[in-house]
Amino acid sequence: MKDVFYSSTRGGGEQVKASKAVLMGLAPDGGLFVPDHIPAFDKSLEELSAMNYQDLAYEVMKLLLTDYTEEELRFCINSAYDKKFDCEEIVPLTEAGGAWFMELYHGKTIAFKDMALSILPYLMTTAAKKNDMKNEIVILTATSGDTGKAALAGFADVKGTRIIVFYPKHGVSPIQEKQMVTQKGDNTCVIGIEGNFDDAQTGVKKLFTDKELASEMDSKGFVFSSANSINIGRLIPQIVYYVYAYTRLMAGGRIAKGETINVTVPTGNFGNILAAYYAKQMGLPIGKLICASNSNKVLFDFFASGSYDRNRDFILTSSPSMDILISSNLERLIYHIAGDDAAADAAYMKDLSEKGRYEITAAMREKLSDFAGGYASEEETSAAIRKLYEDTGYVIDTHTAVAAHVYNEYKKNTGDDAVCVIASTASPFKFTRAVLGALENVDDNADDFALADRLAQKAGLEIPEAVTSIRQAAVLHDKVVDKTEMEAAVRAFLNI
Ligand SMILES: *Cc1c(COP(=O)(O)O)cnc(C)c1O
Repeated sequence: MKDVFYSSTRGGGEQVKASKAVLMGLAPDGGLFVPDHIPAFDKSLEELSAMNYQDLAYEVMKLLLTDYTEEELRFCINSAYDKKFDCEEIVPLTEAGGAWFMELYHGKTIAFKDMALSILPYLMTTAAKKNDMKNEIVILTATSGDTGKAALAGFADVKGTRIIVFYPKHGVSPIQEKQMVTQKGDNTCVIGIEGNFDDAQTGVKKLFTDKELASEMDSKGFVFSSANSINIGRLIPQIVYYVYAYTRLMAGGRIAKGETINVTVPTGNFGNILAAYYAKQMGLPIGKLICASNSNKVLFDFFASGSYDRNRDFILTSSPSMDILISSNLERLIYHIAGDDAAADAAYMKDLSEKGRYEITAAMREKLSDFAGGYASEEETSAAIRKLYEDTGYVIDTHTAVAAHVYNEYKKNTGDDAVCVIASTASPFKFTRAVLGALENVDDNADDFALADRLAQKAGLEIPEAVTSIRQAAVLHDKVVDKTEMEAAVRAFLNI
């Protein structure tokens, strides 16, 4: 097997092995690590169909994390995908309304971020050992709501690490916020910022690429890394569940071997759908990658016009984890469709940071034919929840509803009725007010926990442990800073 090496999308720095890329998170020039080639599966779809989640995860991840030994990788996988998940399949599939919902929310924090953030701490601490890293790893994370809690849950009390999470103080759901501010663990720090998610993400990227700060950190025994989806250690575990969904459908006789399926993904930072793109490159028979946006439809416009333009108002929606105007992982796709051309990518990213926009070439646009884009307004999102519930009794969250709407429109407009897997990215109980509000009139004065009770009663569902356990929990983090004060907040927590 040929080793896979990783280098920056912007061409700076050297090629590194997978474990080094996981440790570093972001390349030194601010680019994202990308593989020098995408390996093909070395097992047949039949063989993969016979495997459970953990064994399948090994078969997929070994191809990209080539410097981890089998023992190391199996340890990471088995430590991550265990009883923390509330069902043995890890990722169950539910058929409803003419599509298959791939439920990625059965982990500890009931959002799909758990799929990667349950394993990232193990991949990272294993990488630290392999690379003889002595410094304490400081995970710096910007969150639109779900990454923060999933990263906190993953890294809390992990030896040799600390974690700092920045979230937009007025841009997450009450349950998301309560999940984060009640986080235990001496190595955890949660800070609200007066700004939106893009401000948080831009601030974090700035801290990452500050060379002076890095050398000061090093002299005090610290090093930054990232738990955001810019880290390949998050991206690679996300490839697994697309393969798993496909092989489950195959094993259950729902599709023939090799039959092409479509996938629809509710998209924000472009990490989840990029994992599906990589799965396709590795040989999974995926036809269209349908990219679903909410009213922050910068990606829809990009697929429609070839122009990426973040110069527009940032809209707060009922699907806050997708309220993003700078989709970081799109940079990886840009690099690939430019023909793995780092200079071209660097020029586009320079335009993005200086002018807020860039336009790709006609030749690059042709390579986007794998993708279809769509978006859902707030009303359409709400209607999608209501219609699916009324037709089938199945309840989906707001993010998943964006995808369901976009998929139904896609099918109507194109006539493409290939079997479709929709990434179901959060439990409806994480966004209770909006979900229940789609089904009935909601009392403005009722708190989100009371609404959770009502949703459970109405839909005949059990409230997940992730919600019941924070109901009475004490708030342990209450710091709020301006977006210009992020560095000071980091220094204060690290005492430097
Ligand atoms: C993070 C998130 C998304 C967006 O995923 P990306 O990988 O950022 O595109 C969608 N839905 C939910 C619930 C999320 O938490």
